[in-house]
Amino acid sequence: MSGVRNKVKESDPSALYLIPHGPSDQLPETSYQKPEIIKECCDMPFIVKRKKTRQIRVGDVPVGGGALIAVQSMTNTPTSDVSATVSQIERLQSAGCEIVRVAVPDGQAVDAISAIKEKITIPLIADIHFDHRLAIAAARAGADGLRINPGNIGSHKNVKAVVDCAKDVDISIRIGVNSGSLEKDILEKHNGVTAEAMVESAMRHIELLKSFDFHQIKVSLKASDVARTVEAYRRLSVETDLPLHVGVTEAGSLYSGIVKSALGIGTLLADGIGDTIRVSLTRDPVEEVRVGYEILKALGIRQRGPEIISCPTCGRCNIELFDIVEQVEKVLLTTSSTIKIAIMGCMVNGPGEAREADIGIAGGDGTGILFRKGKVVKKFPQEKLVEVLLKEVEAYERNSHGLKD
Ligand code: SF4
Repeated sequence: MSGVRNKVKESDPSALYLIPHGPSDQLPETSYQKPEIIKECCDMPFIVKRKKTRQIRVGDVPVGGGALIAVQSMTNTPTSDVSATVSQIERLQSAGCEIVRVAVPDGQAVDAISAIKEKITIPLIADIHFDHRLAIAAARAGADGLRINPGNIGSHKNVKAVVDCAKDVDISIRIGVNSGSLEKDILEKHNGVTAEAMVESAMRHIELLKSFDFHQIKVSLKASDVARTVEAYRRLSVETDLPLHVGVTEAGSLYSGIVKSALGIGTLLADGIGDTIRVSLTRDPVEEVRVGYEILKALGIRQRGPEIISCPTCGRCNIELFDIVEQVEKVLLTTSSTIKIAIMGCMVNGPGEAREADIGIAGGDGTGILFRKGKVVKKFPQEKLVEVLLKEVEAYERNSHGLKD
């Protein structure tokens, strides 16, 4: 995914706009990068206002410092099962995943890392808990980054051993602070798991890694409730310029997970906070990637894949709109084209209500119509609605790649 970046003109008034820092007026002022117009694959300009962070790299993916907000996910296959893990990573990559994390709970998982790496083309992060030797072995086996919680990796000596190894093989580390594993003294001081407690824990670990002269760090702060997660990230973002990995952990099943992630990640991104995101769902991780892009798309930050708009239906609808939308979504799941598609429930109002769409369909009384920018261009039997639309999307893609019909 290559991005062409152009600074907005100094005269652009939006360049001077600072995003307010949320409800807490006690939070100190922070600095933001000047907005940039980011052009992605679709060539559509988006104005984004981002908190200024330092840039690190995870493999060949830059994170922070104005880089595109990278979408991550985590495999749920046993890492030691190389073929299952590679095949899931390939599916994740097709959906747009740019950095993938695998759990490394034992030596067998470490042994699988180099074989997995040989077969994939996106950076791989090894997720380690408790045993610093696994982190060192994973780094030596070719992981592009480590995710550790220094709070459970043992003594400072162990953390230093991991950091020395990361320095040696030139990879980055994510400090992943989790509300469930805060240090005892911090919990006592703050009377439990508060946003301030999470930030204090994160800052302690950041300072520790910096004391070993290690700076390729990104940080995450995860609580399973949205309010605490948002407050903790807001507080942390004024304490450090390190890039932030944003997500709501254990967000839950599909509905609650999507809602919590959209609110948590979306609120922070709208504040200009967050350099890479991971949506957590108790589902196929491919869904996490889809939801990640939907959040970015909804905020106008990144665009990937078609935007499907469909009406909620009303008494005028006499086609099976829910089924049609589902069929189209399934087929276009991994398409990268950024076409805007409308699927509307009636021919009378559909084209007008969806005139912003590049192409659209509507139907009723046995007839289907295809429209472009609100203008009807074709009529056909209603049962061909999906077929006609998909053919039109294909033609649109061919044309946008400079190929002739
Ligand atoms: S497009 Fe037609 S069916 Fe859909 S909500 Fe509007 S009026 Fe109702």
